[in-house]
Amino acid sequence: MALTDWTSIFMDWATNLEQRDSWRLEFDDTIVPKSPNPGWKEYIKKTVGWFKCTKCGRSWPSNRVMVVFHMRLECGQGVVKVRRFRQNCKRCTSAPMEKPEIDHDDINILMENLVKKIRIKCYHEDLHSGSWSSVNVDVRGPHEPDHCEACMFGICQRDEATNNPSASYY
Ligand SMILES: [Zn+2]
Ligand SMILES: [Zn+2]
Repeated sequence: MALTDWTSIFMDWATNLEQRDSWRLEFDDTIVPKSPNPGWKEYIKKTVGWFKCTKCGRSWPSNRVMVVFHMRLECGQGVVKVRRFRQNCKRCTSAPMEKPEIDHDDINILMENLVKKIRIKCYHEDLHSGSWSSVNVDVRGPHEPDHCEACMFGICQRDEATNNPSASYY
């Protein structure tokens, strides 16, 4: 899904945010997990998706597609930076890292949770007790840490959980 799809889904959910502030979303592969810039908040979320090797054409599903968001609200301008963590093919030698394909419905769930996180982290609303949406798919075969960018950054296992608000980063 292209940035425009992410943006339009995000804007739908962003109607739940303070209306006098304007929000936008952008892809940014330079943001570093666990070290947002000063003034930025972080949200790390696991989703599901597919990867396709541009070298051999093989594709594989993953239920550990990690997405990192850094967000900031300043003077009525909100920005969300999104980094989708990549995986590469285990069959090819020196296979390039590939970005995930994430379905519309799963992006929708990501954005629902993201907007809720923005309300908590940027607007200091108390929403911890509410319910959180999550997804899972059955994936055959083990996860391949050697071929997963999120594993290299040590964030692959984490999923800001649903029933455990203390697991959140602030
Ligand atoms: Zn390949
Ligand atoms: Zn991993």
